[in-house]
Amino acid sequence: MKSLLNFFRRNKRKARPTPALMNAYARMPVCFVRGEGVRLWDDEGTEYLDAMGGIAVTFLGHCHPRISEAISLQANKLMHVSNLFHIEEQNKLGAKFCQISGMDKVFVGNSGTEANEAAIKITRLMAHKKGIKQPLIICAHHSFHGRTMGSLSATGNPGLQKNYDPLLPGFAHVDFNDVEALAAYTDNPDVIAVMLEPIQGEGGVLVPDEGYLKAVRELCDKQGWLLILDEIQTGMGRTGKWFAFQHDGIQPDILTSAKALGNGVPIGVCAARGKAADAISPGAHGTTFGGSPFASQIALTVIDVIEQEALLDKAAQTGAFLKKQLQQKLGTHPSVTAIRGKGLMLGVQLKDAVPDLGTRLLDKGLVVSITAGGTVIRILPSVYMTENQAKQVAEIVQDVINDL
Ligand SMILES: *Cc1c(COP(=O)(O)O)cnc(C)c1O
Repeated sequence: MKSLLNFFRRNKRKARPTPALMNAYARMPVCFVRGEGVRLWDDEGTEYLDAMGGIAVTFLGHCHPRISEAISLQANKLMHVSNLFHIEEQNKLGAKFCQISGMDKVFVGNSGTEANEAAIKITRLMAHKKGIKQPLIICAHHSFHGRTMGSLSATGNPGLQKNYDPLLPGFAHVDFNDVEALAAYTDNPDVIAVMLEPIQGEGGVLVPDEGYLKAVRELCDKQGWLLILDEIQTGMGRTGKWFAFQHDGIQPDILTSAKALGNGVPIGVCAARGKAADAISPGAHGTTFGGSPFASQIALTVIDVIEQEALLDKAAQTGAFLKKQLQQKLGTHPSVTAIRGKGLMLGVQLKDAVPDLGTRLLDKGLVVSITAGGTVIRILPSVYMTENQAKQVAEIVQDVINDL
């Protein structure tokens, strides 16, 4: 009966032409019109369990009452002025962000890629001050840092860079989780920074070995290199701490964060520590929209909700429960080669790419992200996912994999 229902569901999915939109996305055949907590509804009234969270954005779920309230209050108070004036909400956000991250100062922008652009520009300013004319940032293969030309050049994915030549010079790529590969650059005087994701997200939820980040930190200290950690996906509670580096007892020199920071309101932060925090002077960088009273107030509210409801621990616990469920139901399946991740950032590695996997899961009522060329089911749910819902996620994934 259930599979018959799914058959009809699948076959009633209609084509949705978008002739006025640039063809940037191979969109899944569904249009969501409403959300509440961990659930979504499409325009035909079908309910879904959301284990994607808008790609790690809606950590507090859809339409969280406190976020919706803050949006409404701030929209009726003040949306935007300009960074040519003092913005009290941005001051407060900066202070709070520094408190939770251990950084000294922030620059507030509108997205992840812009946060990384600020990080890259800070390293260039620092390098030129040191007399390095052609500074080099070492990044990792399979990394993702964004789509603007600078962050795209940092990204370790030739597929995404294809046909965008000339890329920005000044980036090298080495294997992730390999300190020796970084150490091969110790004689290169042009190196200014190492830029990494603590867990590679788009790359397929790739978790480095215990001790890797610490070893990278030590190497950077020894060499006088800046360590940039891109926590755009891993940050803001996703892995069970505010930032993933906090599991390792280290501190980056530059930290970028975005996705869950605004729970859907666009915002990105580049935070820095020590000399890097003072690299930018008036006129050296800027943004029209970044750090508006509106976006800053919403990010402040997100942080406040996470603190007040002790959601870091909840993310760690729910994530551990969900991982165990996935291991129990899929751990020995011949099509599954690994189950990885930390907190509420989990990946099920499949032996082979599965066509239309995202749609197959949608047909069973589950929204997840498929990454790494269709070979990894990436699970990035809201912290409010219940244990029952976590069980459902594992069951639906098992169901779909059994049907292959
Ligand atoms: C999503 C992401 C980005 C890019 O963020 P945008 O807001 O899409 O520009 C950069 N780095 C990482 C690790 C990401 O996951």
